[in-house]
Amino acid sequence: MSFVFPPQAPTSVEIRGSNDRFPVRRIYCVGRNYAAHAREMGKDPEREPPFFFTKPADAIVPNNATVPYPPRTSNLHHEIELVVAIGKAGRNIPVGNALEHVFGYAVGNDLTRRDLQLEARDKGRPWDTGKAFDKSAPITAIVPASQCGHLSKGRIWLKVNGETRQNADLEELIWNVPEIIAELSTLFELEPGDLIYTGTPAGVGALKAGDRVEGGIDGLDVLVTTIGPSEA
Ligand code: MN
Repeated sequence: MSFVFPPQAPTSVEIRGSNDRFPVRRIYCVGRNYAAHAREMGKDPEREPPFFFTKPADAIVPNNATVPYPPRTSNLHHEIELVVAIGKAGRNIPVGNALEHVFGYAVGNDLTRRDLQLEARDKGRPWDTGKAFDKSAPITAIVPASQCGHLSKGRIWLKVNGETRQNADLEELIWNVPEIIAELSTLFELEPGDLIYTGTPAGVGALKAGDRVEGGIDGLDVLVTTIGPSEA
């Protein structure tokens, strides 16, 4: 087998306490999964079934990296989120078995070109240009559930240049991790390597070149990302 050009190297994420890495297959994201964030986006936080969108695997950005301010936006937003790393395949997974499919947890930032996302939303168009752009998915090392347990509560926070922007608790998730896995697995067959960004609490806001963005969840690493100047 030969290729007309070299295939892209697989995207992978560091694992805390291991030299092995987590190969990324797909990135699923949950929309509006904290009531206060749904309200700040102008939506009623009813407990409707969770809804999903995706990012490409190669949108992943490692911890302590610089993300250039992306093109075609003047309203880049941060969204700090708990990320679930799937380690076992399944479809139509019952809520009661869902945690068996979790390899571990990480802290992620669902970077969003809010102006493009809202324009798409309001015109009934796909969200890809607002959500699935290059370098839109910073993430920390994954902590195996065997080390940190399964996360259902704990502080989730984000600061920009030392100022707190987001500060909530995982207990405020409208759909918790087992419920998200169960619902998502009725739509797609989950496979090892899938990541699920589980939604952001209230306090999303704009970033600019030069900003230092720090965010964390109790028991996981602190995600540090610097926003760089636009690329020429
Ligand atoms: Mn999000």
